[in-house]
Amino acid sequence: MNTALFSIITGLAFSFAVYWYLKFKYLLPIEKKVSYIDTIYSKFKDFSLEVSKHSYIPESVEEFSDIISHHLTKLHSFFPDTYSAVFEKDPNKDSWHITHSLSMKKINSSSLSSFVYGLFNKCLNSNDILFIDETDENFENLNFKCIAIFPFSTVDKKIVKIILVGVNDKDEFYLISPYVKYLSANLSAYYKIYERNIKLKSENEQLKRELNAVLKELDMTGSRLIKKARERKAIYDVVSVSKGDLSKSVDSIVSISARVIEADMAAFLFYDESKRTLEIYGKPYWRFEGGDVSYSLPIDELESIEVKSFIEKKTFIIEDSSSIESSLTNHVGHEKIRSMVVMPVYLNENMIGVLEMASKNKDFFNQEHLEFISAISNQISEIMSIINLYKNLSAKAEELSHMNKIKDEFLSTVSHELKTPLTTIKGFVSVLLSGEVGSMTDQQISFLKIVDQASNRLSSLITNLLDISRLEGKIDFDVATFDLIEAVNTSLSSLSIKAMEKNMKISFYKDSKSIYITGDKHWLMQVVDNLVVNAIKYSHRDSEIKVDVADRGDVVVVSVEDNGPGISSEEQKLIFDKFYRGKNALSNTQGTGLGLSICKSIVEKHNGKIWVESGKGKGAKFFFALPKVKVENKKL
Ligand code: ADP
Repeated sequence: MNTALFSIITGLAFSFAVYWYLKFKYLLPIEKKVSYIDTIYSKFKDFSLEVSKHSYIPESVEEFSDIISHHLTKLHSFFPDTYSAVFEKDPNKDSWHITHSLSMKKINSSSLSSFVYGLFNKCLNSNDILFIDETDENFENLNFKCIAIFPFSTVDKKIVKIILVGVNDKDEFYLISPYVKYLSANLSAYYKIYERNIKLKSENEQLKRELNAVLKELDMTGSRLIKKARERKAIYDVVSVSKGDLSKSVDSIVSISARVIEADMAAFLFYDESKRTLEIYGKPYWRFEGGDVSYSLPIDELESIEVKSFIEKKTFIIEDSSSIESSLTNHVGHEKIRSMVVMPVYLNENMIGVLEMASKNKDFFNQEHLEFISAISNQISEIMSIINLYKNLSAKAEELSHMNKIKDEFLSTVSHELKTPLTTIKGFVSVLLSGEVGSMTDQQISFLKIVDQASNRLSSLITNLLDISRLEGKIDFDVATFDLIEAVNTSLSSLSIKAMEKNMKISFYKDSKSIYITGDKHWLMQVVDNLVVNAIKYSHRDSEIKVDVADRGDVVVVSVEDNGPGISSEEQKLIFDKFYRGKNALSNTQGTGLGLSICKSIVEKHNGKIWVESGKGKGAKFFFALPKVKVENKKL
């Protein structure tokens, strides 16, 4: 029992001893290391947090230096035994100088050995951190056992910096290493951001400059465009004015144009051929008082600038009237006028006159003004040609209407004068033909028949001429309301004898028993007669003529259709003209070419319309439509 107890106690003591041995030998150092690493880690975390508190995007070298200082200050506050300094390479030299340093000790950069500078350059070229944990005599004046060097250089190597961190304690040096790496990476990143930012800024500046230039150009173009638009508008106004009262248009053009270019005086002088003078056309434009003059310049007054411009077909510009003789022109003689442009106005080589504009300022007219005045002078020349054309045309029109009147009067008188002797001739011919005054030979009879036919034709010609001259003058219609169906029926009955001569049939179609219209029955029936007579005259023997009277609501439409040769579409436009005879008519039939124009005149005077539907070889169908009188309104 005791033996057993002993062995248990011994076993326990041994285990206890082994536990403590192991704990002291392995576990405690590991725990110590873990907590040490923990401390280092949280210190590093604090450091990085501190560093990042002061981070912003550097926009200048100064701001970037500020960030470097901040980083080094933080390093120093976490490791007060360290020394850190920023060296910058002197441009074009192999030496370096200190730009920042943080330490109790001061280092003079000029006292550093060329070996150290060599290291700087080496570090710069490899773009890597250099750790030296055991310095030797080569590092004299540096006075640190351990140093870390890391470079800053830009891609384009504009700014070259080295940061040197020195410490005397090797352990601390190893401890600092990750901080140095962190600083190096962080500052490089900042530098890249800075560099990019600067580049963007300069690009931005460039863009801004370009934009400003474009804006300026746009502004200038804009004001040029506005100016041009004003001129265009003025020309447009000028053109629209020209479409109105022509006689006033030149005045308006002159004053609008002068206002647009802010001239003080403007006038158009036209050449009066009969007087051989340049005369002011309409009213000149004067901006200041007391200048409203009108004058004429004899074409041989050669010292006048207007006459010179007219004769030589040249533009004259006076830049400053005070430097020329005052007698040169009436305007320039005007005390307020200093500069002036006189431009010839011509159309197709023919001189029309001159356009002049003046200003009370010297050197007023520039190239743009001249171009504008030239455009206006072209416009004036066009208007003047229209005015002349218009004048000539109205004179011609007046002359023609006068001649027409004379012709109408002549026709009417002659027709009347002819009618009486013709009636006498016809009377005597029929007496002779009746044999009442003695017998005649067959030849005499046949000659007399020819005379009879000729006088019949002459009589219808005179009737037509009288009709047309009455219709063209003031005619008093005998207006009444009558039944058109009945009237047409009567008319057709009297024409049936004529139709039978050519063995033709006239068919009458109507869609009601009676249709009332108001008008002159005699004249309106002449329309029906003329159309049916034409249908008989121009159609083949044995054919049919269809006459139709149709009720179309407010109007009544009468049509006369035949199977004759028809009328080509070109001739359809002409057959209603006075004296027009168709090609088909000229050789085969007799007529005056007045029948259809008489019809047209009668129908239109009754507020109706007349037209034809036909085609060559397809027969012709003439229509006329008249306003209908409603049954309840009819006068019976
Ligand atoms: P006219 O019959 O005396 O020649 P109109 O004024 O009556 O004069 O007719 C003018 C022309 O219209 C005629 O010369 C003829 O060419 C054409 N025309 C008129 N009616 C017909 C018709 N029914 N068929 C063919 N042509 C016609």
